[in-house]
Amino acid sequence: MSEFNEYCPAEQYTGKATMEKITSLAKRRGFVFQSSEIYGGQSGAWDYGPLGIELKNRIQTQWWKEMTMLHDNIVGLDAAILMHPRTWEASGHVENFTDPLVDCKKCKSRFRADMIPDENLSAKKCPDCGGELTDTRKFNLMFKSHIGPAEDTASVIYLRPETAQGIYINYKNIIQSSRMKIPFGIAQVGKAFRNEIVTKNFIFRTCEFEQMEMQYFVKPGTDDEWFNEWRKQRWAYYQKLGVKMDHLRWHQHGPDELAHYAKDAYDIQYLFPMGWRELEGVHNRTDYDLSRHSQYSGKDMQYIDQDNNERYIPYIIETSAGLTRNVLMILCDAYDEEQIADKGNEDDMRTVLRFHPALAPVTVAILPLMKKDGLAEFAQDIRKELQDDYSTDYDQSGAIGRRYRRQDEAGTPFCVTVDYQSKEDGTVTLRFRDSMEQVRVPKAELAARLRQEIKSYKRIK
Ligand code: ATP
Repeated sequence: MSEFNEYCPAEQYTGKATMEKITSLAKRRGFVFQSSEIYGGQSGAWDYGPLGIELKNRIQTQWWKEMTMLHDNIVGLDAAILMHPRTWEASGHVENFTDPLVDCKKCKSRFRADMIPDENLSAKKCPDCGGELTDTRKFNLMFKSHIGPAEDTASVIYLRPETAQGIYINYKNIIQSSRMKIPFGIAQVGKAFRNEIVTKNFIFRTCEFEQMEMQYFVKPGTDDEWFNEWRKQRWAYYQKLGVKMDHLRWHQHGPDELAHYAKDAYDIQYLFPMGWRELEGVHNRTDYDLSRHSQYSGKDMQYIDQDNNERYIPYIIETSAGLTRNVLMILCDAYDEEQIADKGNEDDMRTVLRFHPALAPVTVAILPLMKKDGLAEFAQDIRKELQDDYSTDYDQSGAIGRRYRRQDEAGTPFCVTVDYQSKEDGTVTLRFRDSMEQVRVPKAELAARLRQEIKSYKRIK
């Protein structure tokens, strides 16, 4: 198939990251690898390496904490990826989950019609070569397969294109088992699959990805209020994570963009190196999904409000964020390059990932200045002491400056260096990634000092 393209001009991006730099750093340091690389790669799929899985897990943990631990009325769920195919008829995905597709008859490039300039579309002119474009066709994004040995219509099964439906069809189970009362929410993190026409830009848009969704069930009539409340909360969340707030903005869906189920929708967009793009959606999905499931399953999906003697189908406010897209956002947001005076004389450039310490794959690296004279053992002891509470790394090879650089590139916020003085007076050097400042700290105070540094962390650049 010909090359896919996505047209969205980069606007206002002045940061140091480029998609090439991020992709290459991600591979070099073991954040993300291309799937099936030895076979030439599988487009739309990526593998998360040792640092990548740590980063992804931490982003997920922060989100989960924010949603479930910090809200008394939000509980978790992990529903299966494979669901009864009627789910997707009821949800409208079989009929409506399509992207408009056009091909160039001359150069054979394929485009998402809503992502090429209007003038090209109306003139049916290829934005790449000027050749003639085909009419726009609808293309369903769901991956379809068969379950069981017979490949007939009765065995059709879909890979879920969103995690939300697993929440909707379990909402009554959750009310009954957990005695939830409206308003309440259900949070879920999991894989979703979409047969995307365009999968450029590294892990931004992939066919297999992960979502972090929270569905909030409210009384009809209170939905506008809750919609605004959740917009506020999701904005504050990114602020708490230390994301550059001038790289975030709201985008309200116009009438042409609104999904078939939505009454109102806002995206939080992030300024990626390739321009402003959606990071997360906050949607007022009304009572559409539950009403349709009621209709298709024949089961009553009404909420019974015993306190007020009322029954109704709840409205749903959804916050839907891409976990893997958040990984890309955090990588871009943290990426920095700076000119530094190395050892006081020669100018040097360092690449540094300024992750919030709560997100950094490695929190503290322990580096003995020398392997000999018991310094390695001293450093290993420190590592053992810190290991229970912090994610640690140990590196004893190469010049110390180079080892710091390696940790900067992995985004490790703290390095602990053990030298000869350590053996004499029990102090070590604590080095800060962002400022490169170094202070001497008694070994016994290290764990407490790190805890305090993490809690009071403020990004300086
Ligand atoms: P688009 O219009 O860009 O295709 P969407 O509006 O359909 O995306 P939603 O259905 O609202 O996206 O999905 C919610 C979130 O899931 C998005 O904000 C994004 O972070 C993530 N997401 C959606 N599709 C993909 C994908 N193909 N790859 C990675 N993340 C995705």
